[in-house]
Amino acid sequence: MPVELLGKSAEELREFVATLGERPFRGAQLHHALYAERRFDFAAMTNMPAAFRERLAREACITPPRIARRFPSVDGSIRYLFSIGGEQGKPAQIEAVFMPREGRQTICISTQAGCAVDCHFCLTAQLGLIRNLTAGEIVGQVLVLLEENRGQLEPQTNVVLMGQGEPLLNYDATMAAVRILLDPKGVALAPRHVTLSTSGIVPGIERLGREKIRPSLAISLNASNDEQRNALMPINRKYPLDALLDACRNYPLRPREYFTFEYVLLGGVNDTPEDARRVARLIAHIRAKVNLIPWNPGNLPYRAPTPESIEAFQRILMEKKVPTFIRYSRGQDVFAACGQLALMETPNPLVAIQ
Ligand code: SF4
Repeated sequence: MPVELLGKSAEELREFVATLGERPFRGAQLHHALYAERRFDFAAMTNMPAAFRERLAREACITPPRIARRFPSVDGSIRYLFSIGGEQGKPAQIEAVFMPREGRQTICISTQAGCAVDCHFCLTAQLGLIRNLTAGEIVGQVLVLLEENRGQLEPQTNVVLMGQGEPLLNYDATMAAVRILLDPKGVALAPRHVTLSTSGIVPGIERLGREKIRPSLAISLNASNDEQRNALMPINRKYPLDALLDACRNYPLRPREYFTFEYVLLGGVNDTPEDARRVARLIAHIRAKVNLIPWNPGNLPYRAPTPESIEAFQRILMEKKVPTFIRYSRGQDVFAACGQLALMETPNPLVAIQ
């Protein structure tokens, strides 16, 4: 069976070429061709001699996620449905989004197929966990979308790990992919341009705090007290707000590093002025900003917040000196909420398209 190379670090590629009797610099060349030049075909890796490339083609393989469908939005973003697995793992479908903006593109990627966390406002939750992605399947989403949009790339690339799955429940593969994304000789993204979003897995947050190389951290908060959060995010019963916010307070933020708290505003559920005041109290003394994400009405039984409640929520937080931004999710016309595309494609599409 050929050895899968996508997802291997520089060190692992050096070890692999050593098994072929090659010197370490061949590993560095392979690393450069794969991650900096995004070459998935050994024949196209012209920085290495033809004989070595032929040997690689016999002994190894590179299996990027395959684009199964594209869903372009009127706002310029494109949602992609990827097929993964086959010979190298259980087949599954995952999704990613490419969002172009002036000066930059943001790529939202998945870390698991499906998800076990069961947030009640999320359609991915209804898939359950299908499987963890490998490091190659995670980093491959970024490489494929950069290649796919090669002609229109802006100078800066942001990556957000906010697609299907809870990244901290697939910790090792996620961090292996992040290290490749942040490797100056690999994809070479800046740590502040890669954001890992978690539902609040406290041991994972603590572990991330001990990493030398790590992405920015976003916490999906979505509630102003435990009762409300238990109802929306059952993971809160395991890691309640006290424990979650303690983990944030103890996190060794670096100079100029800060948390992002994401707060999906659900009309009539968590969007009152009292909620805003409680959120401000909860995150006082944590260096953070808040992203308010007005709910995008769709297939779940929640309604959008009113423009007045959105504005009041933001104003109250800003008065408490919490930098607060309103983010409208992009690609709404092509099923923007996480997990919706995968549900559209499953043979038994659950509630998503009822
Ligand atoms: S919001 Fe994220 S963590 Fe929660 S169920 Fe959906 S994919 Fe999983």
